[in-house]
Amino acid sequence: MKKEFVVIGLGRFGGSIVRELVKQGANVMAIDTDSERIDEFAQIATQAVVADTTEESVIKSLGIWNFEHVIVAIGENIQASILTTLILKELGVPQITVKAQNDYHEKVLRKIGADYVVHPERDMGIRIANNMMSNSVLDYLELSGEHSIVEIKASEKIAGHSLIELDIRAKYGVNIVGITRGDEIMVSPAATDRIEVGDILLVIGADVDIDRFVQKVI
Ligand code: ATP
Repeated sequence: MKKEFVVIGLGRFGGSIVRELVKQGANVMAIDTDSERIDEFAQIATQAVVADTTEESVIKSLGIWNFEHVIVAIGENIQASILTTLILKELGVPQITVKAQNDYHEKVLRKIGADYVVHPERDMGIRIANNMMSNSVLDYLELSGEHSIVEIKASEKIAGHSLIELDIRAKYGVNIVGITRGDEIMVSPAATDRIEVGDILLVIGADVDIDRFVQKVI
């Protein structure tokens, strides 16, 4: 069965989410108050509707609560973003992702029960800064304020050793949850698996532990 999403707000962020979800085969209902934006997405989204989602009756009549995942990508109008999220939450939408405009907005969204709060400009800035600071850290995904998943290129320091020999979890408190070698991906590698130079390690843990691991071992 196709995955189904609703995307509310078709700015650059919401618009690119709609395009990508459709590209990946999902059914997407796209909503915006601006009819020009809706015209633009009429041929792209499965359904494109002009509507103001701060009206509970509108959300109800569109049957939005039947969707598993709703993305609220209303940007500048923080009030509309909060009100929409609140209504979706009250109607019991299982997963709500909301774009936050600033830290206060994010705080309120978390308080009212948004499941995922994203801060695209800030998150991308952090990711790029992290990549620039370290030649070995290839990519970075923040899980919470203190935990991340990072992709790290294995150096000669650890090549040739198995995970059990390196005892990474006990020594550094991080876990290697995957290893990419060329086109091959090993998910949940075994303790006896050996690391080779150029392997890309997928490491999960607290940021402080990941930093320690990168500095000592990579
Ligand atoms: P981006 O940075 O992603 O381009 P933005 O942060 O500038 O977006 P806006 O352009 O302010 O965000 O808002 C995104 C879209 O949300 C706009 O197209 C706007 O018309 C729409 N929008 C605003 N309020 C509502 C609402 N109450 N219901 C539905 N759509 C709305």
